[in-house]
Amino acid sequence: MDIRVLGAHNCESQSSRFVCLLIDDSLAIDAGGLTSSLSLPAQQKLRAILLTHHHYDHIRDIPAIAMNLFLHGTTINIYSIPPVRDALATHLLNGKLYSKFLEKPQQNPTIKFIVIEPGKSEQIEGYDIMAIPVNHAVPTVGYQVTSPDGKTVFYTSDTGPGLGKCWEQVSPQLLITEVTMPNRYQEFATEGGHLTPSLLKQELVSFRELKGYLPQVVAVHMNPSLEKEIETEIGAVAMDLNTSITLAYEGMQLHL
Ligand SMILES: [Zn+2]
Ligand SMILES: [Zn+2]
Repeated sequence: MDIRVLGAHNCESQSSRFVCLLIDDSLAIDAGGLTSSLSLPAQQKLRAILLTHHHYDHIRDIPAIAMNLFLHGTTINIYSIPPVRDALATHLLNGKLYSKFLEKPQQNPTIKFIVIEPGKSEQIEGYDIMAIPVNHAVPTVGYQVTSPDGKTVFYTSDTGPGLGKCWEQVSPQLLITEVTMPNRYQEFATEGGHLTPSLLKQELVSFRELKGYLPQVVAVHMNPSLEKEIETEIGAVAMDLNTSITLAYEGMQLHL
């Protein structure tokens, strides 16, 4: 399984994009920096998009890819939980902000939205996919993706502390999780459903107690302005836990 980090941050600028992961050039998870990172032919090769929640930084490029595929006469399957479909249909692809690509063209809508049931594993484009609820400000799922050759990654999406129940359901070799801000913002992070390095450390300790191992860890969703501070603190956590934790960046390639 090859994973390319198309977007690794929670702010957009010329050097940072909203979170988006691309697996084997065919499966995208979240659509922050999706169209802005891919050529039109690469967008047409996408088989499916898994969305974790409806916050703008995670669905930003859905209207753009829908238009590109509509003009090309192709379609895309988007998987998520019902609140994401409702938010897209009501607030974005509603015929006012943008075309109703969930319904248009009538015979074969550009976006085929498929509701995914958390906790149940599903076969999607040859991958075994399981959505798992996490603790965020709005209904949110992380995704465990297992390739046909048995390689497994779990992406938490945006989440606050309290992942114990989530850990019971996953066994990844690679954990992609969020670390939005440094430790001095811990109260703010907890309130908004986010992690700091020290909050992540507690979650990793509980993972290791439960599972007896730690996966390779890659952090995303960093605030670019605070990234140096996050990096230093993450380095200390990695040292304490004697494990590998790296901060993702746009264009980062991960191989499992
Ligand atoms: Zn969010
Ligand atoms: Zn976010």
